[in-house]
Parts: sequence; structure tokens; C-alpha cells
Amino acid sequence: MNVVSLFGRLVGEQAATSPEGARKILLAGYAAQQAKLSVAPDHRLPKSRQRIAVDTMKLVRRALDHPETAAATSLFAPTEFLHTAGVTPYSVEVISAFLAGTQCEQYWLRDAEQAGFPETLCSYHRTFLGALESGILPSPKAIVYTNIACDGNMVTFPHAEESFHVPAFFIDVPWEHSEDAVAFVADRLRHLPEFVGDVYGTAPTDDDLSECLAREARCKADYLHYLDRQPTHRLPNDMTSEMYAMIALRVMLGSKLSEDFAAQLARDVDQAPASDGLRLVWMHVIPNMLPPVVSALSFTDRAYIAATDIIVDGLATPIDPAKPYETLARRMVYSAYNGSTDLRIERALDLCRRTHADGVVYFAHWGCKMTLGAAHLAKTAIEDAGYPCLVLDGDGCDRVNTSEGQVATRLNAFLELLEARRAQEEA
Ligand code: SF4
Repeated sequence: MNVVSLFGRLVGEQAATSPEGARKILLAGYAAQQAKLSVAPDHRLPKSRQRIAVDTMKLVRRALDHPETAAATSLFAPTEFLHTAGVTPYSVEVISAFLAGTQCEQYWLRDAEQAGFPETLCSYHRTFLGALESGILPSPKAIVYTNIACDGNMVTFPHAEESFHVPAFFIDVPWEHSEDAVAFVADRLRHLPEFVGDVYGTAPTDDDLSECLAREARCKADYLHYLDRQPTHRLPNDMTSEMYAMIALRVMLGSKLSEDFAAQLARDVDQAPASDGLRLVWMHVIPNMLPPVVSALSFTDRAYIAATDIIVDGLATPIDPAKPYETLARRMVYSAYNGSTDLRIERALDLCRRTHADGVVYFAHWGCKMTLGAAHLAKTAIEDAGYPCLVLDGDGCDRVNTSEGQVATRLNAFLELLEARRAQEEA
């Protein structure tokens, strides 16, 4: 048993008798990890990725240690209304990924099951719900959520609202991609500053939101620069860093943290060496705890993730700082994770062309009905466009719910296929 799993066991067992004590242990562990990442960063990683590891650890610690200035959210919620007002957003996916990284998710999955949540519910949601039920997660002061990208949100957040008697703000995003839908969502968003002000005592102003979107526009330019460099430059990466990038560019998009990260990433990629490695577009959540994926795609010259669709999705629509409500509404309505699968496929193909990808991995996270349901259609359309696509079944959060041998075999066979295809093209 390694140190992390011993630590996870300590946290999980302590939570049975003293959730507060378990949270203190968890926070002490995160503080120690943050200190380690600051003093002895992973020197294989570029500066941008070393720094974002520290910044995201700080963010999670702040959310858990100061729930009075934090809000539980979903990954696709417009967190700009929170962090511009000094409120720390923490999403289900991020908290659960951190708990899984601490190797204690099995305790909260068990608690969720005992509380009656079905095993068919996505493990990110079940881990979060179990941690809330156990008391290791503090009750959030408020909740801001939306129905995209999954029905799990419609289980988790209403339950949390009722159990903890905390105010919640729900943003209903219509299924269809239309300007009427944008106007509908923008009208709803106009009520969000008042909600934030009522709960936390500070409301974001329109000027705050405009400044935030101006930062987002700069961040987008830098991140697109990073993507455009992919065919010729390879910046060392690992799966966990890709998850941190998702936190920076989704949960904290528009903050100084995200702007600094993207700016440094753009500088780093300019210095990066060329690579013959296979370039992959990754679709959906990042299974940074799945050993066969981690060993195949972290710090190797053989293959690397050139782009992840769930990260780029937050930057895909136009940003107009003069129209914050419409901009943020349009991002939600025209998210590739809302509505029909066509837009998701189209955006994935844009990423393939932009990064000169060799192939696509569509991660079919167990329990994610929307992603599983669209898998066949996405694979067919992507392959019809000339890019091999692997639908990789697995679980990004529940470590015992994936056949590691099968994932390793399928991923390796896919990389071999891409290598053969490359060799044929070059012959
Ligand atoms: S993996 Fe799917 S079901 Fe789970 S939180 Fe993400 S979108 Fe929702």
C-alpha cells in the first residue's frame, strides 16, 4: 500500500466517527502537497503546469476550508458571477477528482449507495454526494447549477439544496441551439448578481463582469496560440496537468489565475521542442487516476494529448466584454455538451484539423448517459471525416470500476494502429 492510499484510508476511516477531524486531516494533507509542489515541483513539467498545480491545490483548500465564501457548482455553470465577487466556486467533478486523487473515493461511493443513490449515477456525482452525506465536505453556503451537461446535476444539486437548506440558483438551458434560447438564458443570468449579493454580501457589477470577459478574451487568444503550436511543438504534459488546465479554463475562467496560466502556457509552448509523437484529441472528462491511460499518455514521446474538447468548449463561442450576459448565455446554449451531438462532433473535428491530430479518444465515462449514448454516432462521424476514433470505456473517478487490463490493451492497440497509419502516410 502506498503513502497516498494509506492517507486516503486514514481520511475515510476517520470520517466514520469524526467528519470534521477527517476534513482537517484531508486539508493538512493538501497543505503538505501544496508545499511540496511549490518547493519541489515536477521539473519535467513546464512552468505553466508547475504553477497551475499549486494554484488549483490552493483553490480546493480554500473551498473546503472557507465554505462561507464558497459555492458548489457544476462544471458548465457561469462561475464568473462567483469568482469576480470573491466567492470560490468548486464543482462536483473537481472535488470528486481530488478525493479520488487522495484514494478515498470508495468511502464516499459507499456512503452514497447507503443513502440510496443508484449505482447507475455517474461516479463523480456519487462521490460528491457521499462526501456531502458523510460530512467530510462542509455544507456549501450556496449552489449555482445548470442542467448541462448531464442529468446528474438534477439529482445532486436539488438533493444538496434540500438536505442542507442552502439557497440554490438554477439556470435552465434549453436543448436547442438558437438565439431565442440565448435570450432566455441571458434573462435568467441577469438575476444571478442579486442572488450572489444576497447570499455573500457582495454582488458582481456589470463592470466586474466586463473586465472578467476581457481577461477571458486574452486567455482565449493565448490558449488558441497553444493549440495552433501543437503540430510542431510538444510541451511535456501528464493527465493530472490536463485536469488542472480544465479547472483553470472552466471553473476559474476569467480569473487572474486562468489568464496567467494561459499566458505562461503560450510562452512555454513557444520554447517547446518538436516531436514526432502521436497527437490525440481527447473527448470528455480526463481520467487522471486511471493507471493505463496515465502511463500511456504522460511524459512519453510516443503519444500526447494535443487538445481536450471539454477544455476548449469554454472558449468556443465569441466573447464580447460589452455584453456579459449574452456572452455567457451563448456559451452555455452553444456548448458542445448541450443539445444534439452534431455540434460536439463538429467541434472535435475542428480540434483535429487545428492540431493535425492523428486520432481521437472518446472517453466513455461509466454512468455518463449523454456521452455513452452519443458514442457510436461520434465515432462514425469522426472516422468518416478521416480520423481514427477509439471509444474507450472506463471510469474517471471510481478506480475499481474499470478493467485496467482491457483499457491498456485497447489504448495500446489504438496507438499501434495510428503509428502504422502514420508510417504508411510517410512511406
Ligand atoms: S461525466 Fe457525464 S454524468 Fe458525470 S458529471 Fe460529467 S457530464 Fe455529468
